[in-house]
Amino acid sequence: MTRTGDHVRDVIIIGSGPAGYTAALYTARAQLTPLVFAGSLLVGGALTNTTEVENFPGFPDGVQGPDLMDRMREQAERFGAEIVDDDITAVDLTSDIKTVTDSTGTQHHARTVIVATGSQHRKLNLPREDELSGRGVSSCATCDGFFFKDRDIAVVGGGDTAMEEATFLTRFAKSVTIVHRRDTLRASKVMQERAFTNPKISFAWNSEVTEIHGEDRLTSLTLRDTVTGEHRTLPVTGLFVAIGHDPRTDLFKGQLALDDGGYLKVDSPTTRTSTPGVFAAGDVVDHIYRQAITAAATGCAAALDTEHHLAENR
Ligand code: FAD
Repeated sequence: MTRTGDHVRDVIIIGSGPAGYTAALYTARAQLTPLVFAGSLLVGGALTNTTEVENFPGFPDGVQGPDLMDRMREQAERFGAEIVDDDITAVDLTSDIKTVTDSTGTQHHARTVIVATGSQHRKLNLPREDELSGRGVSSCATCDGFFFKDRDIAVVGGGDTAMEEATFLTRFAKSVTIVHRRDTLRASKVMQERAFTNPKISFAWNSEVTEIHGEDRLTSLTLRDTVTGEHRTLPVTGLFVAIGHDPRTDLFKGQLALDDGGYLKVDSPTTRTSTPGVFAAGDVVDHIYRQAITAAATGCAAALDTEHHLAENR
């Protein structure tokens, strides 16, 4: 194991989505020379998986997700953020001086750590799902609903999120079919009622998606009846997968308090975690809003909380 010596930084940031880069920008401008671990597989975070982003303020003509993230990185680097495209594989956050270990085994030390590792939406794990992501397949109705005006679309899932997304999508879509594996829903009664009474929503009960079709864009799905085993085609040009998210918190188990869903707990409205000197921002905390702008906002808050913590503990 390599050590970086006795050099103790003010702040290390884990994650390079809107939360991590915004925290980097603010801490860099506060002259805390942040060291940012961007990860190796998803440099720039979840928005690098999408095409057009139309709801990030300041871009009236929209912006491509990867371009937006490149600009955020450039802006943070301009003020002195040091960004490394590597993963953190272990952390020791319990002492006053925090230690994080990168994939080469090198340890880095800091007085504070900002965790912005995001969350991963659960996938159906079907062929074509990744290729058609952003081309009909989506995991975020708030982000992409607008692109589905007068289309026939499907939502997969049986919980509150699926009902909420389906109901929201009826503002745009011609029809919404909720595809659910069972014949009853997990969603709360009130969300179920809202979906049942919406004339644009219908249900494909006891059904699972087994195939996703389309070359450049989604054209249809194959559904399998989980009771009879029969297959049928559902012609839709939109598929919203709403079967849950997994926050990336494995590294922090046993060191930071997590809620029942595995998200990091913070002392809201601050970004303080259960461990002094450790702050958390973005989708690793947030299971409600999950937007680039809200992730950026809490990244800013984490940077300001970090500044205050350092000032009080000099
Ligand atoms: P993320 O963007 O998920 O970033 C997490 C970061 O943590 C990544 O950089 C990853 O590499 C890093 N990381 C994880 N583990 C480690 C580790 N161990 N070591 C080092 N780094 C690590 N939102 C909108 O507002 N508008 C949209 O139009 C929109 N479209 C979307 C389209 C798609 C396909 C998806 C998936 C999401 C979309 N979103 C959109 C949601 C938005 O992308 C997220 O809300 C936002 O990216 C969350 O930011 P974050 O910084 O919390 O996490």
